Amino acid sequence: MSAAASSEYPVALVTGSTSGIGAAVARRLGRDGYAVVLHSRASAKAGQELAAELGRATYVQADLADDAERVALVRAAAAQWGRLDVLVNNAGISRVIPHADLAAATPSVWRDLYEVNVIAPFRLVAEAEPMLRAAAARGRPGCVVNISSHAGVRPKGASIPYAATKAALNHTTRLLALSLAPEIRVNAVAPGLVDTPLTAGWTAAQELWRERSPMRRAASPEDIAQVVAMLVASDYLTGEILLSDGGLNLT
Ligand code: NAD
Repeated sequence: MSAAASSEYPVALVTGSTSGIGAAVARRLGRDGYAVVLHSRASAKAGQELAAELGRATYVQADLADDAERVALVRAAAAQWGRLDVLVNNAGISRVIPHADLAAATPSVWRDLYEVNVIAPFRLVAEAEPMLRAAAARGRPGCVVNISSHAGVRPKGASIPYAATKAALNHTTRLLALSLAPEIRVNAVAPGLVDTPLTAGWTAAQELWRERSPMRRAASPEDIAQVVAMLVASDYLTGEILLSDGGLNLT
């Protein structure tokens, strides 16, 4: 499809969508009637297979630590579908470092996490802004959903740098919501533990969620995709950080 031909379907770009939460969000938005732009840093084969499975979808590879590739990703999405209604900033990285081990949280760990978890989502919104505003002109506000973490809300999480980047993403969400309304809504979902490749070996956290959280389990990627779909379906909510941790924060 060329840039001149605008898709008749609303279009959603979901970053980091070849596995885990991102893949579940892509499948869910596909079922909800969106054309989906899938993305990942490396797993092109998985991306092309998921695009074929979804049907109304394309895949773009980009390293979000690199600013030129961030810009190229949004431009590729625009070129393929001619419009962009929803941006889900899901791609993210984590580092597991005991909070008391300050020496292990090196400047390079801080910089790597900040590039992917904070600067990349902001830059994608900046690049996509004109297209998201154009969505409002068609009748529904453009929509951004950032996937942050409960670690950005409470003093918890895989490491201090990880938690701090997610807190920064939550604050960026509220600042952008204020700046971009009413044409563009900006919200975040802050999951607790989710069963994905990222957390496969996190046995202590899995036990904590089984034993202490009111819902007695970690989230599935589909649980989080449902929360994202709720935010996408709204025409009104903006600036919200939806904590989705099965109630663990209550204990
Ligand atoms: P995952 O490892 O399955 O997926 C992460 C995705 O991010 C991958 O598709 C990967 O390609 C992409 N990515 C990472 N670095 C990238 C880069 N430099 N350039 C482009 N893409 C890059 O992990 P997941 O558990 O599905 O996590 C998705 C999001 O949810 C992340 O932002 C994560 O911080 C957040 N989160 C996860 C949990 C959890 O328990 N799994 C909890 C809270 C928040």
